[in-house]
Amino acid sequence: MPETAPAAPAPGGNASLWQRACAVTPGGVNSPVRAWRSVGGTPYFVARGEGPWVWDVEGRRYLDLVGSYGPAIHGHAHPAIVEAVAAAAREGSSFGAPTEREVLLAEEICSRVVGCETLRLVSSGTEACMSAVRVARGATGRDRVVVFEGCYHGHSDGLLAGGGSGVATLGLPASAGVPAGSVADTLVVAYNTVPDIGEDVACVIVEPVAANMGLVPPVPGFLQGLRDACDAAGALLIFDEVITGFRLGAGGASGFYGVTPDLWCFGKVIGGGLPLAAFGGRRDVMSQLAPLGPVYQAGTLSGNPLATAAGLASLAMLDAAAYDELGARVARLAAGMSEAFAAAGVAAQVPVVGTLVGVFFGDTPVVDYEGAKASAGTGSFPRLMHGLLDRGVAIPPGAYEILFPGLAHGPAEIDLVVRAVGEVAAELAAG
Ligand SMILES: *Cc1c(COP(=O)(O)O)cnc(C)c1O
Repeated sequence: MPETAPAAPAPGGNASLWQRACAVTPGGVNSPVRAWRSVGGTPYFVARGEGPWVWDVEGRRYLDLVGSYGPAIHGHAHPAIVEAVAAAAREGSSFGAPTEREVLLAEEICSRVVGCETLRLVSSGTEACMSAVRVARGATGRDRVVVFEGCYHGHSDGLLAGGGSGVATLGLPASAGVPAGSVADTLVVAYNTVPDIGEDVACVIVEPVAANMGLVPPVPGFLQGLRDACDAAGALLIFDEVITGFRLGAGGASGFYGVTPDLWCFGKVIGGGLPLAAFGGRRDVMSQLAPLGPVYQAGTLSGNPLATAAGLASLAMLDAAAYDELGARVARLAAGMSEAFAAAGVAAQVPVVGTLVGVFFGDTPVVDYEGAKASAGTGSFPRLMHGLLDRGVAIPPGAYEILFPGLAHGPAEIDLVVRAVGEVAAELAAG
């Protein structure tokens, strides 16, 4: 007799875990993009990862270009990071007193990022950006903050401001629950255009390479233009390098472009996969923080011993040779993807900045959020994502995310992605 398929989802499988997750967690996830709402389907549950691969709870293997949205630059479960975290755990996981690795990590970051004189460790990019803006406001005695449409700086109230489609707008909450008053001093302007900066502006915060609306490189002169405009107005310039920091080279985007902000936000790569982020910059500005100055900021788990161990182990492996290698692999991936789309006759863009790579659909390079939305509006992204997944390649499940290849993705893995993109491109072209 033929065996019949079970009626209920197999216990412990993706579908059954998803049902249980949705019962106890809003939308089944602890961060919304993981729910696959914009691409459809049921997310796989990761059982484990190793190098460039992850396995789901049903034993299916995926070549992983999600990379935890940035932190997994060395691949998953890198032995040096595993060992560092295990050793740290044996010595105690949190004390509420200073530890040596906090000093080592701060020294390491300050030595790599020219102009970053002093910094404070926190636990998430959200905290880093929120705190950088607070210290900028405290240091300048001004309230207004300028942000760019399509950039993401975490989910603190004041930075969840929506834009007005390319027009400078003040104070539109981008989320329910954000009071109008919280964004009343947040000015939203279009990316890649230097805005007028008034003398009421405390700071301009920007992703120096935008990587949360797909990958949108800064046009020549944009970052230097921001620097000059801030200087003229007495405002501070904040680079949110939560993605670009320690991925786009040892000195991040500021080193890459030779434009030095007053403050930086870091996260993702610097935690080696554990919750760790930082904000830092000019000593005189950072000295406004408690206990030296009047700007309050704190954290029970800030500078956590396990996180600093992972961060130090991760940075120790990121030397010039590692960035060269990653850049070469990203170039191979981008060139292969571009060729694959072109060969299939699919209008697509594969923007690259050093070690950063994204994908857009359409005929023209994207320079701002309007362009990113037009790409997403083609509806091709969900088909790309699911087509790749069917071929064992996992990319972030959203049209506004970039791809995260890392040092564990060797030439063979890159070629596997390119082949899969070619097959999916042919499907897209067939309609
Ligand atoms: C991810 C991200 C953040 C927020 O970091 P979390 O750790 O998710 O809070 C802030 N800025 C940028 C540019 C990011 O990519």
